[in-house]
Amino acid sequence: MDTASKIAILADAAKYDASCSTSGSARANTPGGLGNGAVGGICHSWSADGRCVALLKVLLSNACAWDCAYCVNRRSNDLPRAGFEPEELVRLIVDFYKRNYIEGAFLSSGVLGCPDATMERLISVARTLRTRERFNGYLHLKAIPGASDELVAEAARWADRVSVNIELPSAASLAAVAPDKTAASIFRPMRALARAGGFEPRRLIGAQPGGALAGDVPTNAIAVHPSTRAVLPFPAMDSASPVVREPAPAYDACPSAPAPSVRRGTSVMDARKGRDRDPSAPVLPAGQTTQMVIGASPESDLAILGLAENLYLAYDVRRVYYSAFIPASADPRIPATVREAGPPLLREHRLYQADWLFRFYGYSASEILDPLRPDLDMELDPKCAWALRHLEFFPVDVNTAEYRDILRVPGIGPRSASRILRARRSARLKPEQLKGMGVVMKRARWFLSCSGTLPGSDDSTRRLSRPDNPEALRGLLLDSAPAALAPLQREFDWSPA
Ligand code: SF4
Repeated sequence: MDTASKIAILADAAKYDASCSTSGSARANTPGGLGNGAVGGICHSWSADGRCVALLKVLLSNACAWDCAYCVNRRSNDLPRAGFEPEELVRLIVDFYKRNYIEGAFLSSGVLGCPDATMERLISVARTLRTRERFNGYLHLKAIPGASDELVAEAARWADRVSVNIELPSAASLAAVAPDKTAASIFRPMRALARAGGFEPRRLIGAQPGGALAGDVPTNAIAVHPSTRAVLPFPAMDSASPVVREPAPAYDACPSAPAPSVRRGTSVMDARKGRDRDPSAPVLPAGQTTQMVIGASPESDLAILGLAENLYLAYDVRRVYYSAFIPASADPRIPATVREAGPPLLREHRLYQADWLFRFYGYSASEILDPLRPDLDMELDPKCAWALRHLEFFPVDVNTAEYRDILRVPGIGPRSASRILRARRSARLKPEQLKGMGVVMKRARWFLSCSGTLPGSDDSTRRLSRPDNPEALRGLLLDSAPAALAPLQREFDWSPA
């Protein structure tokens, strides 16, 4: 098979992995035009300084010894197989780089025999590029679940970023649709990557020292009040408390070695403030990332976000990517209803919004969702949904409130909150100045005040013009995401193959 045919197969096979950012563009070239927004195998990632970087996104091989139901490359799927020799892939990357097609590469692979053998081939490509070819471009390698700690650390030595995909949000789902993977085979390389990046991994919240899995052990369950069903605070979770114990929603797999646990209530934003990262560090400067497939298994958004928060805090994961399940080929282990529903794009979008709230707004997963309301509102962004449930928190006075309280106002982001703090040092702010600072007044006006003056209110009475009825206010806060994503959803032809 010639190189072009291999690229066509192996770049196409890599496109379902979202753990390196892609542009999402689908624009075709026009007659006489230059360029193509959907060139197979070229994806776009963003560097720390915001530059867009073109990456060759390709598999070393799409032959796989494993059989994950959600994956197009699984052993039982009948499709053309191809593979590169490491040297062939090195030449390809160097050629593409010299022609200015790419600035780096994202390399993954199906499991060739066993995880360590596959890892060694991927490392061989990276090591040859860095040493013999003196390649300084961006390299993102995939760590294979079950690979040894030594090989994962070796991969971290040559790559800017390494990712291990967690794929399913619970051990039970992993066993059902990815029988060759175990929680331990995924978490172990994650811990090795955290250490390689200079971070001592912690135990996941709810983890049992013996490495028990979700659903096996009732003591790691969520404590719920028997009549109100309210989630009880952590101290109530001892055996003497009058609580109903419900199964923990996600993984409880953990290292058997003792490690300090993630502290409850810690926000990802706060935890990261104390973490110095060096973008020019010799080992793993871009850290580790992971991906979860959304919609292929029955877990709630609470389970997904709880796990994501855990991964940020326990393993110093730089980004969790959420990938709407694409039923590219039928497998009986994925229910027909799931396959026919198509990819849950809106749900994926809401999960990204909630994830953003962890990393940049100081929210915790338990503030966004709880067992009584385990799924995100598809009509509202999660920040507006939180604000509607906590109207007692508002209005926030932008002339006196702390930064993190200002951040809770819908329509105000980190940049506009910082501008507000800077501007109010010299003068008291008035509502009409806020729009110029980037505040989206359409949403923010219902939740803020300026030294007691409410935007759009009658200055003489200073009475809030906000609708008394939360449902009416909700109607004013609906965003355009459902309408914007609907045509995209319809564009796919999801009839199972
Ligand atoms: S290990 Fe599973 S997810 Fe990875 S390529 Fe093989 S079948 Fe696909």
